[in-house]
Amino acid sequence: MQESFDTYQSLLYSLDRAAALLGLEENDYVALKYPERELKVSIPVEMDDGRIEVFEGYRVQHSTSRGPCKGGLRYHPEVDINEVKALAAWMTLKCAVVNIPYGGAKGAVKVDPYQLSKAELKRLTRRYTAMILPLIGPEKDIPAPDVGTNAEIMGWIMDTYSMFKGYSVPGVVTGKPVDIGGSLGRREATGRGVMLITRETLHRMGKPVLGTTVAIQGMGNVGGTTARLLELEGCRIVAVSDISGGIYKRSGLDITDILAYLGSGSGNLLSGYEGDGVKHITNEVLLTLDTDILIPAAMENQITLEIAPRIRARVIVEAANGPTTSDADAVLEKQGVTVVPDILVNAGGVVVSYFEWIQNIQSLTWDEEEVNRTLEKIMIRAFNDVWDSALSDKIPLRMGAYKIAIDRVVKAKKIRGVFP
Ligand code: NAD
Repeated sequence: MQESFDTYQSLLYSLDRAAALLGLEENDYVALKYPERELKVSIPVEMDDGRIEVFEGYRVQHSTSRGPCKGGLRYHPEVDINEVKALAAWMTLKCAVVNIPYGGAKGAVKVDPYQLSKAELKRLTRRYTAMILPLIGPEKDIPAPDVGTNAEIMGWIMDTYSMFKGYSVPGVVTGKPVDIGGSLGRREATGRGVMLITRETLHRMGKPVLGTTVAIQGMGNVGGTTARLLELEGCRIVAVSDISGGIYKRSGLDITDILAYLGSGSGNLLSGYEGDGVKHITNEVLLTLDTDILIPAAMENQITLEIAPRIRARVIVEAANGPTTSDADAVLEKQGVTVVPDILVNAGGVVVSYFEWIQNIQSLTWDEEEVNRTLEKIMIRAFNDVWDSALSDKIPLRMGAYKIAIDRVVKAKKIRGVFP
């Protein structure tokens, strides 16, 4: 995996390229190259054996031009500030491309959550929340789950914030358990969005969904849901992987059985999965399989300059954030591979987070059918905007998405003016 410095460079490269296509002056968008605020915290945690361990954490707010900041919280041992800065900026662009009234943010703690006990994880989360408390709130910055965090952790954040305020504030965080103000459909929203965008891409390319072969890297929240929903649509999921490696079956994997296995014990990984006719492969082999569609749904910088020339899928649907490095992207463009960009593909999560926040603020609850229907409407509208923009300007879909997003953010900045 490349250094996260490159993740930020990839972002700057795409920003400059899209700004040039829009004919923007440096003055119009230079502020977008810098986050508005960065907070670094040192989080002391009393471990179960009595030791005090200190973890490094961050919250980065990229932009408030179009509304409060919105962005996930990541727990990962290799996370660093450059990665968090890039992820925060992508959130600004993501919210703009689907046209919801938020700016972008991201938080992270450098920790392997799977090495902590539940009690340690809870103390870490509560202390991190207390330390970023001045920055967050329903009108300011609203965290959500990302890699290594989940609904339970969001519940602890909501409770900690509420204890400081002296009353319940469900709108401070999204992706919470439904019993304390979470939205129906939120857990599956990102994967549902990935499925919708994959389906629309096939429609626009004049290809059938039924029988389309798909390989998916990452079988967590996003990859797992995407696999299940695409299988329901009639796709053939021939390969999936996780941190332990991948599995492959040309006639199609049994996704229900695989998800049941992964969910049946904590620590269950695909390397331990056995099934009829199932072969074990590496993550690298998965990325270069001969399938119709490749869906990276794990981490950043997986499709590198080294891997790109060997990719055989004709369509890449980026479910993870930043899975393709900018130099690999250029190779794929030359090879005629259609890359559907992350800021569009994985926006379903933040769209339903927006619905959750609306429900919390208005003390309302929507049923799941309403959530899914409204999500579908927003995702398909955004997809059509991006596809049409790319088609009319003869540019890659990523540039089409960046053009729309940057145009919206720059417009908001211009209308508001530069303070003071
Ligand atoms: P997760 O922690 O639930 O799952 C991550 C999966 O990737 C796991 O199966 C893990 O084993 C696998 N993985 C990790 N490192 C890997 C590697 N080097 N090679 C292969 N597999 C690896 O995380 P998630 O929430 O599913 O997020 C996945 C991606 O989607 C991330 O890029 C995240 O930022 C992005 N995303 C998530 C959401 C969301 O709502 N959860 C929303 C938008 C974007």
